[in-house]
Amino acid sequence: MTVRMLFREGQVFDGSGSPPAAADVVVEEGRIVGVGSDLDGDAVVECNGMTLLPGLFDCHVHVTSSGVDTMRRLTRPFSYQFYEAEANLRATLDLGITSIRDASGADLGVQQAVEDGLILGPRMQISVTAISQTGGHGDGWLPSGIVLGSREPYPGRPTGIVDGPDEMRKKVREIVRSGANVIKVFTSGGVLSPRDNPRHGHFRDDELDVLVAEATAAGIFVMAHAQAADGIKAAVRAGIRSIEHGVFLDDEAIEMMLAKGTWLVPTLIAPVSVVESVEDGASLQPAVIAKAREVLEAHRESFARAVAAGVRIAMGTDSGVGPHGTNLRELALMEQGGMSGPEVLSATTHSAAKLLGVADELGTIDVGKRADLVLINGSPFEFGTLKENVTAVYKDGILVSRGQNRGNGDNG
Ligand SMILES: [Zn+2]
Repeated sequence: MTVRMLFREGQVFDGSGSPPAAADVVVEEGRIVGVGSDLDGDAVVECNGMTLLPGLFDCHVHVTSSGVDTMRRLTRPFSYQFYEAEANLRATLDLGITSIRDASGADLGVQQAVEDGLILGPRMQISVTAISQTGGHGDGWLPSGIVLGSREPYPGRPTGIVDGPDEMRKKVREIVRSGANVIKVFTSGGVLSPRDNPRHGHFRDDELDVLVAEATAAGIFVMAHAQAADGIKAAVRAGIRSIEHGVFLDDEAIEMMLAKGTWLVPTLIAPVSVVESVEDGASLQPAVIAKAREVLEAHRESFARAVAAGVRIAMGTDSGVGPHGTNLRELALMEQGGMSGPEVLSATTHSAAKLLGVADELGTIDVGKRADLVLINGSPFEFGTLKENVTAVYKDGILVSRGQNRGNGDNG
């Protein structure tokens, strides 16, 4: 027998950016089959005083990473990351985030474990390994000769260092073979790497053209970690779909993004998390700490200008740099950068689904969509307390979390 589940008399934020409006929502066999008034159902979830949101997205996480502390990373047993990933995925789901894009680290095994229901987590797109040039953001070479890579290679996760179009072509094919749903590339330096500069662009156009051609041939998109203006422009020129971080955006870069429809995934919380980790005693190289402090202000200022100019924005946090389970802090920073509450939530639902190419199935509360739903106590625009107000999370119509209250054993 098919059960019709009725979410009765809630405020519904449908994801489009329109303000919440009173409606009933009916779910059957994992899909939304009705949105309207006076609907009926066999099982009823009373939503009075609550808001129903589409399942949230985080377009930039690292679920196998758990913080930036160098000593901890060096002494952690290799396989421990996969057990941490399970806890990280669960903490993400508890926030109402039912879809993530892993920006390197998670492999096919992690993704399949979630898909098969072996572990609980958001649905995920994976990039497996990020592609870097020698001396780039993915190269952990130190002056001692020791290589302190943040993600050790193994059969399911190849190294990502390449130079030149030929190596690039082979590497993209190798990463596609390993199961990637999206290709991640570093087109500039970054913060958490010892020997590069976030203000320098990495890879030349001939290398990026090959990368995009191979990803396109495989039917997948490309995401570029890009902080330097030069690296952002090179990524946009090559037709890369999203700029991650976008720390040093200049006017020309913004114009180019508008002209091409390139997305920005800001991850404003990331440098904040690095600085906070250091204040909490994390061991990090002094050069890395200095870079984190340097990018913080530039990042906020670039984001505000991108918002004002109308660049397409999707929510992402870089969680894994900071603790998983704090992802929703990003929403308040987006609001401070000039987005309205509904715009922020739309960037975290409908827009994010568009960026990931899954808007036919997810991201809005519409008839026919998958029933990924989040029940929020009260207003969803109180971002400072949103985490505490998540009361129920549904994935494909199945209750998967009671938010922060899951510890008390009431999970059904
Ligand atoms: Zn990242």
